[in-house]
Amino acid sequence: MIRLAVVSGKGGTGKTVITSALSQMLPNYYLLADCDVDAANLGLLLAPKRIHREPFHGMNTAVIDPDLCTLCGKCSEFCRFRAVDHNKEGFSISNIRCEGCGVCAFVCPEGAISFTSRIAGEIFLSDSTAGPLVDAMLVPGAGNSGLLVHEVKKIALAQDRKWNIFLVDGPPGIGCPLISTLTGVDAVLIVTEPSISGLHDLKRVVKVVMNYTTQISIVINRYDIDEPMTELISEWCSDKGFPLIGKIPFDPWIIDSVRNCRPITRFDTAPGAQAIQEMADVLYRSVGVK
Ligand code: SF4
Ligand code: SF4
Repeated sequence: MIRLAVVSGKGGTGKTVITSALSQMLPNYYLLADCDVDAANLGLLLAPKRIHREPFHGMNTAVIDPDLCTLCGKCSEFCRFRAVDHNKEGFSISNIRCEGCGVCAFVCPEGAISFTSRIAGEIFLSDSTAGPLVDAMLVPGAGNSGLLVHEVKKIALAQDRKWNIFLVDGPPGIGCPLISTLTGVDAVLIVTEPSISGLHDLKRVVKVVMNYTTQISIVINRYDIDEPMTELISEWCSDKGFPLIGKIPFDPWIIDSVRNCRPITRFDTAPGAQAIQEMADVLYRSVGVK
């Protein structure tokens, strides 16, 4: 099974639209994971029917036992995350700000601090129009999205291995969720857009991806909104030796397809769908599934 991640150095490049389109091209081939856990929306385009859900336990957070606390204030003094609150009722710990580092328990002279596990989100397994899909929802304010990505992938890979492609919709940016997404992948498609920030973020994400795989392909979405910038990105790809495997035009059909919660490939005469199909042919041939 080929593990293919679709990522972007920044949000809003159309990564999920492209992932959903890629998932429609080879019948009965896909196992899917939405690793953009801070804003999971691949499911919106793939009509998932949930068949299993389970809680995601994030890091442990500290709790003060008021019966043991003598109000010395050491926990507040040593907490670098300002997670200890103090009011007339005594000391308490914010489970939003607490990073679970354990320093407060170490310095507490009364042994009044213990740790409790917190539900930080939920993970879902669904049947979708493309195959089994695992996605997740993080509780607002909860951290640990990298750990949640790891869990999403673990649950996906525990499914039947008859699928030929493990297709992952990755997170934007280059933080911890991206690292977690890239671990163990065979190939990566990077989606960029023709803008200064698009090129800047493309360079950053390529640097990170190179640590995990050299099988990198690049596609420029909405290439025709700034053709000189598209030219600059094309030159950069060529200079660095990264294959630019497609240029997708701005296409109002794509907006319509998202509004209708359908992959753009359902509108197969749309210019965007045709450009994605051509790009997908090159991509799938390069990873050996076509
Ligand atoms: S360090 Fe322990 S005893 Fe002191 S205020 Fe904090 S919880 Fe209470
Ligand atoms: S575990 Fe760390 S972050 Fe949480 S309250 Fe204690 S010192 Fe602060």
